[in-house]
Amino acid sequence: MRRAWSVRNRVVNFLSLVWQLEERLACVKVPWRFAIFVVAIFLACNNLSRAQVRSPNVGFHHVHMKVVDPEQSISFYTSSFTQTQRTEIAGWDAVRSENAYLLFEKVLLPISIELDSALWHFGWNSPDLIADYRRLSAQGVDFFRVPPPSGHMMGPDGNDVEISLYSPNSGGNGPRAFNHVHLMSDAPLCAAQWYEQVLGLRRISVTDDRLTGNCRAPFGPRRDPGNQIHQPNARLRLGDIILFIYPNQRPSRTLVSSRGHVLDHIGLTVDGLTTTLADLKVRGVKVLESGYNFGDTTMQAAMIEGPDGLAIELVERSGQVP
Ligand SMILES: [Zn+2]
Repeated sequence: MRRAWSVRNRVVNFLSLVWQLEERLACVKVPWRFAIFVVAIFLACNNLSRAQVRSPNVGFHHVHMKVVDPEQSISFYTSSFTQTQRTEIAGWDAVRSENAYLLFEKVLLPISIELDSALWHFGWNSPDLIADYRRLSAQGVDFFRVPPPSGHMMGPDGNDVEISLYSPNSGGNGPRAFNHVHLMSDAPLCAAQWYEQVLGLRRISVTDDRLTGNCRAPFGPRRDPGNQIHQPNARLRLGDIILFIYPNQRPSRTLVSSRGHVLDHIGLTVDGLTTTLADLKVRGVKVLESGYNFGDTTMQAAMIEGPDGLAIELVERSGQVP
């Protein structure tokens, strides 16, 4: 209510400023007055749209995986990525890499590794791809795509794990850091707009959807590397890491919910979960579950549905998130 009031006040203030300007410019020629009018209205609208977007201040926290043998998974990640450490988060076995975690929920039988959900893969920076490829191959790691440009290996649970060349713009906070989560989408630029407008993420790719208003750009052709569909795509900053959004690589099939896959969902921290959820509901975001504790902690959490059926867990950040 208070926000609606402040938006109304801004409208009234801007219109009154515009009218005052109009009066003072009465002696100026009509085309100039019209141009000034247009600029004033543009600035007013711009300011209003910013006033309506309230960022929930999200940070990246984890990828939640469902695996048969957490010990085997932990051993793979800690032996492949030397800066990772075994840990426990909220009662789950986990691997920590800088401020990001992989959580391993034990399941009895292997579950879906189909590439039919938005959550495609994740990966780490490498300062020397060829050296890391050789080292990991010697350790018995299978690569289904050999670098350059980037290396894609088969994780112990059948999931794709990437190493990509470190640069100051590659995400992560160092040459060997966990650097990205790679998503697929049936409309990548629309998904990027959602992350930007609903979760307040910062877009770092330049695409023309914000100028044209059309985020449903047609998919480009398959091309190397990897015979993949690369266009259109988007990149967003999510704390230290980068969220890549590429086209659905099997465009004849709409993506399904990420739940029930080896990569089940991603977890983000937020300030003020209750307020954030209320705000998200107003924006029409589907809340899958709410009012539960994050693992064995007393931290409140909720699961929402992002674009393309991606399950996103929001965990209250109050200085106690492990
Ligand atoms: Zn990737």
